[in-house]
Amino acid sequence: MPPVIPLGREALEDREARDLAPFAARSRDSRGRARPEPDHPYRPRFARDRDRIVHSTAFRRLESKTQVFIIDEGDHYRTRLTHTLEVAQVGRTAARALGLNEDLVEAVALAHDLGHAPFGHAGSEALEECLRGHGGFEHNRQSLRVVDLLERRDPRYRGLNLTFEVRESILKKKPAPAGGTPLPQDFDPRAAPLLEAQLVDLADEVAYLAHDLDDAVRSGILPDRAVRELELGRRAEHLAGERHGDDPPRRARVSALIELLVTDLVEATAARLARERVRSTADVRAFGGRLVGFSGDVARAAAELKERLFESVYRHWRVMRMWRKAKRFVTALFTAHVEAPDTLPPEWRRWADECGLERAVCDYVAGMTDRFAQQEFERLFHPFEKP
Ligand code: MG
Repeated sequence: MPPVIPLGREALEDREARDLAPFAARSRDSRGRARPEPDHPYRPRFARDRDRIVHSTAFRRLESKTQVFIIDEGDHYRTRLTHTLEVAQVGRTAARALGLNEDLVEAVALAHDLGHAPFGHAGSEALEECLRGHGGFEHNRQSLRVVDLLERRDPRYRGLNLTFEVRESILKKKPAPAGGTPLPQDFDPRAAPLLEAQLVDLADEVAYLAHDLDDAVRSGILPDRAVRELELGRRAEHLAGERHGDDPPRRARVSALIELLVTDLVEATAARLARERVRSTADVRAFGGRLVGFSGDVARAAAELKERLFESVYRHWRVMRMWRKAKRFVTALFTAHVEAPDTLPPEWRRWADECGLERAVCDYVAGMTDRFAQQEFERLFHPFEKP
């Protein structure tokens, strides 16, 4: 038997150069890290960044952060961690089919929600209001702040020291609204995001459309017949019916929905890249607009589903109760610490000296899990609780 020779980083980079599409990002072409480091013997740069994200504290906290449904309602609903893993899975499948860089897609997908506050969008909305007049809060920008400043892996510097491409893609995955969470100066606002970043935005959409619909049906908030009124609901049922016969199980309809969305995403994107003659990352950067996306048909059907989720699920009175409560809760935590900075743990007081009180308290509260926020609330407001 011939000896087994492990694949080194350079061999893997050669493989990327050979096998990826010409418009994909390549680790070898990365602009590198703010603090230069020697390359790893067998991991290309984006793969190394992905591993740093997986090993971060903020990543582990995703387990106890709410997606849409409050975790206490049952163990089968999605949390931010399972949502994140679904985004990474959808993203990798589509990246492989399109010849894009899977390591980069996976790194960005795993980091994309690190900046979300506890209690889902309600918590983030509370911080947006608290930070008005203090520089603002926006969760994509906060995700970048987490990997750039709040995580610690080396006592000599703050952050994970990720490559430029991963950091930029975390930030630019979504066309960002103006204002909210200050930005580092090193990004060109005119340059369009890499295809890998654009893909994570769509993978996020595929994942949440499918799982929010599934969670809504499971919880009884949305009846089956309402799903059949939707174009995507009908199409998914039809596809699942071809495999499972009439009245396919809910699980089969969810996989069918993901499959038809991902298939459309891959085919429509491939057609658009060919039509626009995109041949390099420079072409991607210079293109005015997004290249990764659904076909017109499916985009319209996805918009219909989104609207339905908005009206019937995200605004359902049971969800709204938790939403209002969560906002009050997060606002109370923020206000309590800003009014009495001497209640902050010492490392956060030092951080407040460096970057300002409101910003530091926002970082502290945004990083909390739902569980920690509940405990903190009791410690601060319950008269007989140990501080
Ligand atoms: Mg997400």
